[in-house]
Amino acid sequence: MDIGRRDLLLAAASLAVASVAGGARAAGDRKIGYAIVGLGYYGLNVILPQFVNCQHSRVTALVSGDPAKARATAARYGVPERSIYSYETFDQIRDNPDVDVVYVILPNSMHAEYTIRAAKAGKHVMCEKPMATSVAECEAMIAACKAAGRKLMIGYRCHFEATNLEAMRLARSGAAGRVRYVRSEHGFVQRDPSKWRLKKAMAGGGSLMDMGVYSLQAARYMTGEEPVSVMARESTDRGDPRFAEVEDMIEWLLKFPSGAIASCLSTYSANQNHVLLMGDKGRIELEPATRYDGNRLWTGKDGRAEEISPPPGPAKTQFAGQLDHLADCIQADRSPIVSGEEGLRDMRIIEAIYGSAREGRTVKL
Ligand code: NDP
Repeated sequence: MDIGRRDLLLAAASLAVASVAGGARAAGDRKIGYAIVGLGYYGLNVILPQFVNCQHSRVTALVSGDPAKARATAARYGVPERSIYSYETFDQIRDNPDVDVVYVILPNSMHAEYTIRAAKAGKHVMCEKPMATSVAECEAMIAACKAAGRKLMIGYRCHFEATNLEAMRLARSGAAGRVRYVRSEHGFVQRDPSKWRLKKAMAGGGSLMDMGVYSLQAARYMTGEEPVSVMARESTDRGDPRFAEVEDMIEWLLKFPSGAIASCLSTYSANQNHVLLMGDKGRIELEPATRYDGNRLWTGKDGRAEEISPPPGPAKTQFAGQLDHLADCIQADRSPIVSGEEGLRDMRIIEAIYGSAREGRTVKL
């Protein structure tokens, strides 16, 4: 059932990017308006500059705790001053007809609150990964969007990235034969002990809540299956002031119904960005695998490797593809391919990974 669902997702992803490429819309169709909540690294430097690459999305409002930064950013992107909000005035966004979507790019512990407030204000939601810090929060977010009749999408950008889409297509087409094993490792050296990412209350956890999400996602979208059990082990130097509250390294083994296994790692003490799939006829490898750009893909067989250039994605970038996908889903009343339910699936596994590491036993999923 899960393999079937994955294939449907992949087909939907191709359709989604194709519709972005086609861009054939009735004249007069308005672009979907996004409010960006949180003008930090990702919101300010990565997402906001991407609206120029979008066909169906535009930025129409900003939410920030820093009025001067918000004003300067608004001037840069042509957002009117009346469409700048603080966290205190956020709920007034309900009266702004130019805002269709609230894009939550805040510390992880704030994702649930702002998603639920946005839904109550009658807005659709794009929420960054990890979806939240617990299964209970994810369920409350899904329920709030459902009750408001609004869409909820998670910022899983790799589902719109040409190299990852091609790797998924190759895996599903049997290019490596029957999938037996996936290795997925993601990490970077987290140097600043003052970061919210190292505070349990704000991040919900350590490297697993950050880069670990990429390892987990890749294990699921490369196998096209849902895991049935997990065994995890954590390795953290608790004497290191960076890791007083959250884990540094955590590795986990997922077992899938087909018998395939995935060995995954997340770390805050090494730079790594790699996905490898082994099948009974060959291999598919991505390195770097999930970066903003420059990802590379190989297929291999009998000691030979060939680099694959993925067909150019219809959207200019994975970020524009992601933003326009939700816009398309709103216009056509479809479900996003990476919905709240997809974020919830990951969070259920994340809780099991932490449980397994804590208790030193295999956890069934
Ligand atoms: P930053 O720390 O750079 O920015 C977070 C922003 O949130 C701040 O600048 C601030 O914006 C706002 N904020 C509100 N309250 C607080 C608070 N108490 N402490 C800190 N910040 C606060 O984080 P990132 O932009 O790197 O990450 C934000 C989210 O995006 C995370 O969930 C992360 O996982 C996700 N992310 C996703 C990526 C991807 O590739 N999909 C890449 C990077 C991050 P302001 O000053 O405007 O109020």
